[in-house]
Amino acid sequence: MTENLTSHDPRTGLPVGEVPVTPPEEVPAVVERSRKAFSEWKQLDHKERRAYLKRFKQTVLEQGEHIAEVVRSETGKPLSEAYSTDVVSGLTVMDYYIRNAEKLLQPRRGGSWPFVTTKGWTEYHPRGVAGVITPWNYPFFLAMIPTITALSAGCSVVLKPSEITPLTGQLFAELAEQAGLPPDLVQVIHGNGATGAALAESSVDVLAFTGSTEVGKLVAAEAAKRLTPVILELGGNDAMVVLDDADLKQTARAALWGGMINAGQACISVERLYVVDSIYDEFLLELDRVFDRVAVATEDEREIGPIIHPPQLAVIEAHVQDAVDKGARVVRGGKRAVTESGIYFEPTLLVDVDHSMTIVQEETFGPVIPVIRVSDGREALRLANDTRFGLHGSVWSEDRDRAKRFASQMKSGTVAVNDVAVNFIVPTVSFGGIGDSGSGSNFGEDGIRTTFCYPKSITAARLPRATSKLLGIWQPRRGMRYWKALARTLFRW
Ligand code: NAD
Repeated sequence: MTENLTSHDPRTGLPVGEVPVTPPEEVPAVVERSRKAFSEWKQLDHKERRAYLKRFKQTVLEQGEHIAEVVRSETGKPLSEAYSTDVVSGLTVMDYYIRNAEKLLQPRRGGSWPFVTTKGWTEYHPRGVAGVITPWNYPFFLAMIPTITALSAGCSVVLKPSEITPLTGQLFAELAEQAGLPPDLVQVIHGNGATGAALAESSVDVLAFTGSTEVGKLVAAEAAKRLTPVILELGGNDAMVVLDDADLKQTARAALWGGMINAGQACISVERLYVVDSIYDEFLLELDRVFDRVAVATEDEREIGPIIHPPQLAVIEAHVQDAVDKGARVVRGGKRAVTESGIYFEPTLLVDVDHSMTIVQEETFGPVIPVIRVSDGREALRLANDTRFGLHGSVWSEDRDRAKRFASQMKSGTVAVNDVAVNFIVPTVSFGGIGDSGSGSNFGEDGIRTTFCYPKSITAARLPRATSKLLGIWQPRRGMRYWKALARTLFRW
């Protein structure tokens, strides 16, 4: 008998729908069907693929509100937030690859120095079947990024959405079908970690994992057994640094948005806020003031959503409690808000925070902004970089050159200058972490060229007959006098 997976609305705890689980032992057959779809998809030229992907984009655009409603039904996030951060962000990445994939995948010529006898170029070929494993916080957008990048590269996709948000995953498959994508090009399998593990163990040609650091390590270990290339988009502990010449009003609004986005359940949300001493008091007044703009369960423009995965609530509480025990002060919120309609955590502002606290060391993944007072920019940089993560960060200063220099020194895969959490929707540059935040990128040039394609370099002799003589490697090999003269000629300068 087929087992079902039930999705719940976190606002009410009530079931909102169910999908059939894909038993782990069935995953290899799904991958084989995907391989057949790949063998046809890769034969299409860019124009043909683009026509399919345009229809896919059109379908997402037409069904945008419905997608946002499904996302809301199983994450509880406000409808306009679901529409902007899941649907519009998804469309942004689709549009980018539809416009640019052909150009990005053109062969690249290598230079001719010092091997003047040989010319070379690199071609980009699709790897094959892409296994995509995604989390629950942005169930549509985070599935769309690797899927559209993989399809644009010429790969087929097997998607394993989070068991917390399976309805959005199911909708993803339906949209692909409605758009008329070839059968089995995008297949969705459902289940918990066991189904995900079966995909990681399968014969997929590349794995794109987005989720926690702990599970990312398991997936990487599994992938290593087959040497399957794997890209890991993992947790973050992102620092926001406010320098003494920042626009305090604007920066306070940004901190609020960056900390409360998706009720803090975003890998690129503000997890640590460093403010230099000389403007600390003034900035804190601004920040405290803007907190009036957010509230839980209000159903108006102040609304921030619930804690999507209930066990996360205990993690947030433990981090706040640890901070308070070690001397932090709660200025706003600080506790769960058990409303009639579900489980929320109050928008929280913590001050007198220091680096011994778990809230600074670990990803809290909740609507909490811990503020750390620092003497100057140098101390801010040292502390911001004192982390095992490295996904995103931001720096705020009216002196743009100073801010850019600061950004370059931050230990992180992505940084925003006078902006926050924006890199995730800028597909023209790569997005990825370092350290415990992962490696590789689904985005931009890197995502399509080296994650979902393999680079094949080809060389061709310019003057085939002369080459072997000039090079002098072939038998009869030239002697030391020749090689020394050649080295002196080539590398004298
Ligand atoms: P998770 O790691 O618990 O689960 C992610 C996915 O992995 C789910 O689909 C799950 O079923 C699957 N899975 C679980 N065990 C598995 C196994 N052994 N093998 C293969 N797959 C397995 O993460 P989550 O709780 O769903 O998501 C929250 C985390 O995701 C946070 O840490 C957040 O920072 C991170 N995240 C990172 C990014 C990024 O781009 N870097 C984006 C969003 C979320």
